[in-house]
Amino acid sequence: MALIDFLIPPICEGCHQLLQENERRLCRSCLLQMEPLRVEGRCQTCFNVVEGSCFACSTQFSPFDRYAAVWPYLGAPKGLIKRYKREKRDLDIPLFANYLLVQLERLSWPLPDLIATPPQDLIKRIWRRFDPIGEIGKELSQLIKVPLFKAARRLAGRPSQGSLSKKERLTLTEEDFIVLDKAALRGKRVLILDDVFTTGATLKSFANALWRGSPLSIYGLTLAWVEPESCQDQEGSEEEESRGEAEIIRFKGRGDTLPSLLVQHEANDFF
Ligand SMILES: [Zn+2]
Ligand SMILES: [Zn+2]
Repeated sequence: MALIDFLIPPICEGCHQLLQENERRLCRSCLLQMEPLRVEGRCQTCFNVVEGSCFACSTQFSPFDRYAAVWPYLGAPKGLIKRYKREKRDLDIPLFANYLLVQLERLSWPLPDLIATPPQDLIKRIWRRFDPIGEIGKELSQLIKVPLFKAARRLAGRPSQGSLSKKERLTLTEEDFIVLDKAALRGKRVLILDDVFTTGATLKSFANALWRGSPLSIYGLTLAWVEPESCQDQEGSEEEESRGEAEIIRFKGRGDTLPSLLVQHEANDFF
């Protein structure tokens, strides 16, 4: 044990309990919570847990060809995401980018032509000087050698999502974003990233704005999402069980669908 550990005992970033000697940043139980959500048994379009075909997606239009999340917005993943945003922790950027990559491989999605992240509005950009999902998008873009689409802006003068009620958020429209270079999107496979999918309003309006450039497809992937109640009910106990047995994730790509992906990091680099 290092001297610094006596002075400042190491605390788990997920649950704030004291860490054991062989643990770094997260305790073992929080590390198990970092196992990405299983993609089997879910609707490929809306990511809800379904048996057979998805009723919701057969009756409603989705702006995504596919949508998925890495984690439920709970426990250790929630703790890490909140801390990353609050403290502008650059060192977490490769961690999140690699988890996105792990989930992308499991999803067997085609390699995108462009990566896009919803731009912050001007006031936030100036005030925060940190674009949490933009930084992660940059990292992923470098890892998989796919360019970032930067020619979109959030229109100024609208309140930020955090200050809106759920009802107000759902009334936001694609007018909140403007695409400056529509031609760059034409015929492209676009992967949109975001940190947390709550109602999906931001991501959907961003996708709707991008559709105006006539891309071939739009896929959406977020670090976390607030699972609809139906998912939680159906999955609850089974999920717990499978997490208990889950192997701690290793950042090794299988490379079968995204052949250019070579992931340098292993879990131990982060924890
Ligand atoms: Zn913990
Ligand atoms: Zn669905």
